[in-house]
Formats: sequence, C-alpha cells, structure tokens
Amino acid sequence: MNLFGLQLDLFGATKQEEAPRKPLVSADFSESSLVTFKYSSHLKKSVRCSRSAFFGKPELTLPEFMRDNSFARSREIIAEWAEHVMHRKTAKNKAVCKELLDRFWQSVEQTLADKGEKSLSMRGRLPPIVTKGDVHDLNEVFAAVNSTYFNDSLTARITWSNRVGGLSFHTVRKDPFTGEDFHLISISRGYDKENCPLYAIAGVVYHECLHIMIPPEEHNGRRVVHGKLFRQHERRYIYYDEWIKWHKEVLPLNIRKMRKK
Ligand SMILES: [Zn+2]
Repeated sequence: MNLFGLQLDLFGATKQEEAPRKPLVSADFSESSLVTFKYSSHLKKSVRCSRSAFFGKPELTLPEFMRDNSFARSREIIAEWAEHVMHRKTAKNKAVCKELLDRFWQSVEQTLADKGEKSLSMRGRLPPIVTKGDVHDLNEVFAAVNSTYFNDSLTARITWSNRVGGLSFHTVRKDPFTGEDFHLISISRGYDKENCPLYAIAGVVYHECLHIMIPPEEHNGRRVVHGKLFRQHERRYIYYDEWIKWHKEVLPLNIRKMRKK
C-alpha cells in the first residue's frame, strides 16, 4: 500500500468551485414581501412610510446605509412597524408601534456598534459584546464558572468593559432584536492582563454571576446588592481569598497604567 500516494491524493485534491450563491435576503422587500424598502441618502436618523400606489402595501424609505445586509434584521422590525402603522390608531396599536420603533433604532445602534461604527445617538445603546481579550477569553471563563458553580443554569452575555478603567458589573438589558431581557456581565479591562491569573478573572466572573442568582434585596426601603446571603455564597469560590487579594492589590495598578496610556 502506498501511504504516501494516499496522502498526496488527500492533499492534492482540488477544491470544487462553489456555485455563486443567491443572496438570502433582499434589500428591496421584507421577508413577508409585504413591505417594500427604498433608500435615500438624505435620511440619516429617520424613516418614511407611505402606501404604495399599486396594492396599498406599506413602502418604507430608509437611510442609505441600511441597504447593507447587516441591517436585514433591523429592516424586518421596521417592516413590522410599517404594517402596524397602517392599522387603526387604537391605544394598543400605538403602544405596539412605539415598542417596535424603539427596538428598531436600538437594533440599528447595536449593529453599528458591533461593526465598530459611530452611533447615531448614544441613548440606550448596548455596548458591543467583546469576549476575546488580549489575554483572557471571557466566554471560556464564563462557561467554566457556570458549569462548576451553577450547573450550567445561567444564561448571560459577557463582555469586556468598553471603558478604560471601567468597573465590573451586572445589569439586565433588553435585546433590541428580540425585545427580550437578558443578563449582561461587563468585566473591567484591568483583568485582561498577563499578570492576571485565572483564579482572579474567574473570581470576578463568579461574583457577577452570583448577582444573577441572588438579585438585590430590599431592607427597610434600602436596596442591598451585596447582602448576607450574597457574601455567604461569594465565599464558596475556592480561590476567594486569593482573588480578593489580587483585586485589592494588583487591579488598581493595572487600571492606573491603562489610564496613563
Ligand atoms: Zn457585586
């Protein structure tokens, strides 16, 4: 048997040319084909809706930059809005329209942020989700913490903070595409350094994960975020002491260095 020949065959196999694929989404119609999209370079932060002359279908004019495929999901939201806007103006319908329009602009902002482009306005914008750091991959750390301490029961998105010297925190945010709430964990960039051991980054991720499991409590009208129960659970992290030491001694130095830059 000629092993080398076999090997050569394997590696010498010519790749089959892929047939040019048809674009999956059209920039001219919504998925339902009920709404027509047009684009105008005059529009920046607004959309126009009218009824087409032929079948009375909604016709939307969007800013030129939304022709790009990356805005396909946003276009679906505004198409849904256009269909509702054409209906009778009941209170319920008005509320639906407002919700859809808000989600539309949020989703546009999110897409711009994910692409690293400038936002239309900073209001209500979610930070871009960045999990791969220079040293640590937050997805890997989150997966390990979630499986070790929470039986994989947590669902959350995790990102490096987009602010220099930012703090680590947990918030509940609304997904602009689906309108659903989700947990967002933001981790300080001070942890994304060569001098940050795994036990430290896992410690802060564990802490923020605990906020999902143990929500803030009310005590005599005061909101207690790190209550007794929280502190008890926090100590279950096996490198708790080491993490706290690193957090107090090394993290501030890292943040100071980042700010100087
Ligand atoms: Zn906390």
